[in-house]
Amino acid sequence: MQEQLSLACESCGRGLADDSFALSVTSDAGERRAYECGCGAVTISVVRE
Ligand SMILES: [Zn+2]
Repeated sequence: MQEQLSLACESCGRGLADDSFALSVTSDAGERRAYECGCGAVTISVVRE
């Protein structure tokens, strides 16, 4: 099963790839992943399974 990510920075709109991945936090609501863009903004995405 492959996961297709099409994330964009909330600040500058640049596409965020896996190498921008910063950290992941898992809670009852699911997994949240933080991506840090080159512009310094951090975008959070929620992954539900
Ligand atoms: Zn950015």
